[in-house]
Formats: sequence, structure tokens, C-alpha cells
Amino acid sequence: MKSLAFTLIFIMTGFSMPQADRFESARLKMVKTQIQDRGISNQDVLNAMRKVPRHLFVLPENQNEAYNDYPLPIGYGQTISQPFIVAYMTDIIKPGPEMKALEIGTGSGYQAAILAEIVDSVYTIEIVPELARESADRLKNLGYRNIVCKYGDGYMGWQDYAPFDLIVVTAAPEKIPQPLIDQLAENGKLVIPVGKPSAVQELQLLTKRKGRIETRSLTLVRFVPFKRL
Ligand code: SAH
Repeated sequence: MKSLAFTLIFIMTGFSMPQADRFESARLKMVKTQIQDRGISNQDVLNAMRKVPRHLFVLPENQNEAYNDYPLPIGYGQTISQPFIVAYMTDIIKPGPEMKALEIGTGSGYQAAILAEIVDSVYTIEIVPELARESADRLKNLGYRNIVCKYGDGYMGWQDYAPFDLIVVTAAPEKIPQPLIDQLAENGKLVIPVGKPSAVQELQLLTKRKGRIETRSLTLVRFVPFKRL
């Protein structure tokens, strides 16, 4: 009887530990070598990347590669970004606990989960209906209560919940959608890849200060195209 009780307690505490999975050491190594060693020091970002089980956001056949240093397919011609790009985009917008974020391009839901570990609430829009449904289910099953998912064209943003302190766009338009700029709060930050679909794109950081937009060019990236319904 005593040993049964012990076993049950063991099982229960085992289940309640978020990092108790067979990929934990791969995940911690990924954070150290791909993110920390490349200059990202924001503890909130590092902790979020240490916690979110990225292997549950990729296709089952790619689980063993989930923590490798490259993007992976998520079906429907779409991809989950390389871990460093997710960390970089999260770091550059300086997320804080009181903030409200909008993401365009839910995809697997991984970037939304990383944001949700840090900010107050995340609103995310996905244009591929199957991905919108799958990622909403995944995020719900993982216990995220502060992420609101929607199927649709993110071009128009999400007026009902605007303004947003942070906006992250994970598909590349040729031109920044004006509604996203309009829905940015004062001192809000928007990170977005901009450029032609067939080429590399420029990752840009926009900041709204006193109603005016400051634009900074960050680096070259390769994202899937921004689609329209
Ligand atoms: N953030 C995702 C990355 C997914 S790739 C992740 O962490 O997994 C980019 C996603 O943007 C794709 O799923 C694509 O279908 C979606 N997308 C492209 N154009 C869009 C649009 N206009 N509105 C919403 N989602 C869009």
C-alpha cells in the first residue's frame, strides 16, 4: 500500500513537470548553442524556449529533428521557423508581462506559445483552415489559456482587440499591411519580413512613437509568402 502511494505521487509529480520529456536535454542544448551563444540574453525568452516542447509542434516524422538548427515542414506547404529566428523575433520586440500581442501566421502555434509564456495575451490568425484548427487544438491541449486563435486573412489585423503592444508577422508580404500599422499601440513594436516571395526578405522592426513610425532593417531572412483570401 505504501509503495503504491509512493508510486502514485511519483507519477503525478512526474506529469506535472513540464520539462519531463525525452527531448529535454536536446531542448536545453538548443537554447545554449543556438540561442544563448549567438547573443540572446533575455531570460524570459531563454526560459520560454527552454519550456515549450517544440517537438510537439512539428510533424511526427520530424520529431527527432525538432531541436535542430533549421526550419521544418508543418504540412500544407508551410514551415515552422528555425529556433533562432523565433528567439530573435521574440527578443527584438522586448516582450513584457503586461503586454498584448498579435501574431499573423499561427502555423504550428510554436511562436504563439513562446510569446504566451512571456506576455499577458496572444491573438493569432492563420489563413490555412487545417493549420488554424490543428494549432488551436494543440495550444488548448498544452494548456495555454491566454492564446486566442482565429482562422482568416491576417491582412486586416484584429480590430476587436486592437491596439496591440506587439505584432509579429511570420509570413512575408511585399508591402506591410496598413491595418497592422494602424493597430499598433503607442510605443508598440511590429516585426515583419518584407519582400518578394521568391527572394530573401528583409526583416524589419517598426516602432510607433508619438504616432509616427520608425523603421529599422534587421537582417535578411527567408519566410513563406503572405497570402490573401
Ligand atoms: N509562426 C508559425 C510559422 C508558420 S509559417 C509557427 O510558429 O509555426 C507562416 C504561416 O503564415 C503559415 O502557416 C501560413 O499559412 C500563414 N499565413 C500566410 N499568409 C497569411 C495571412 N494573410 N493571414 C494569416 N496567416 C497567413
